[in-house]
Amino acid sequence: MHAEPAPMNSFPLQSRLRHWRLVLTVALIVLGHATLSAAEKKIYIVTDLEGASGVYKFTQTRNCQETALGRQAMEYLMGDIAAVVRGLREGGATEIIVSDGHGGQAFVPHLMAPGAKYITGLPRSGGGIDGSYVGLVQLGCHAMMGTPDGVLNHTQSSKTENRYWYNGVESGELAQSAAIAGHYGVPTIMVTGDEATCREARQFFGDNCVTVAVKRGLSREAAVLYPFAETRQALYKGAKRAMSVIRKCKPYKLTEPIKAKKQYLILTPAPPKLMIKEGEITNVLDLYRF
Ligand SMILES: [Zn+2]
Repeated sequence: MHAEPAPMNSFPLQSRLRHWRLVLTVALIVLGHATLSAAEKKIYIVTDLEGASGVYKFTQTRNCQETALGRQAMEYLMGDIAAVVRGLREGGATEIIVSDGHGGQAFVPHLMAPGAKYITGLPRSGGGIDGSYVGLVQLGCHAMMGTPDGVLNHTQSSKTENRYWYNGVESGELAQSAAIAGHYGVPTIMVTGDEATCREARQFFGDNCVTVAVKRGLSREAAVLYPFAETRQALYKGAKRAMSVIRKCKPYKLTEPIKAKKQYLILTPAPPKLMIKEGEITNVLDLYRF
C-alpha cells in the first residue's frame, strides 16, 4: 500500500522551495551532461586503401607511393576521407583523427580536408585509439581472406594468404581493428568498402553500424565500380548518420584469454607450404603480434 501524494498547493512553503531546488539541480545536471557529451564527440577514423572508391586491383595498392596507379589510388582515398570528415562534422563530431592504416601508407597531404588531423608514417609511438573517442570509423576497408566477392580480399598479408581465428571465429581486419577499439569501450559506428566488406561489418557489429559500399566485387580483382560523385555523396550522408547511431552501437569485444589460430603460407622455397600456428593471446592489445 502506498499513500496518496498530497496535492501540490497543500505543501508548506519550505517543502515547495525544496522541491523547486531539487528540480533545478536535476535540470542543471542533465544540462551539464548534455554539454559535456556535446563537447566530447571525438571520432577516430582508421583507413585502408583497398576499399576506396575506384580501387580494384593490387597494382593500385602495393608500393602505392612508388607507382602512378598507386598515387592515383591514394588520391581516390583522400576524396573518400574528405566526404566522411565533412559528414561526421555535419553530424556533430567535435574532433576527428584520421589514421593511415594502409601498410605502405597512403595519405596525400595537400588533399587533406579541413576539420580533422591526419596521422601517417611508420613506425609510430602514440596516435592510437583510446577511451577518449566515442566512435571508430573504418574507411576504405576490404573483406577477410577468402571472401569470394570481396574486392582485394585478404587479412593482413595478401601474398601469404593469412587467415585468423579468435575464440573459434574467423576474423578479418574489420574485427581486428574493432577489437582493439572495443578494448577501450569504443564502438565501430561506420564501415566503408565494397558490398562484401559491408556485409562482413554487419555480421560482426550488427545492423546499427552504418555501412557504405563504394563498389561490388565480381572476384578478387574485378568489380562493379560506383561513380565517385555518388560514392562521395553516400559517404557524406552515411557519416552524418553514423553520428546519430553512436549510442546504439556496442563495442566489439573479444573474451580474454583469446584462443587464437593463424594460417599462412611460406612461399619460398617453392612449392608454398601451409603453416598453422595456435596459441593464446592474454591481452587483446597484443593481437597483431600473434
Ligand atoms: Zn588491409
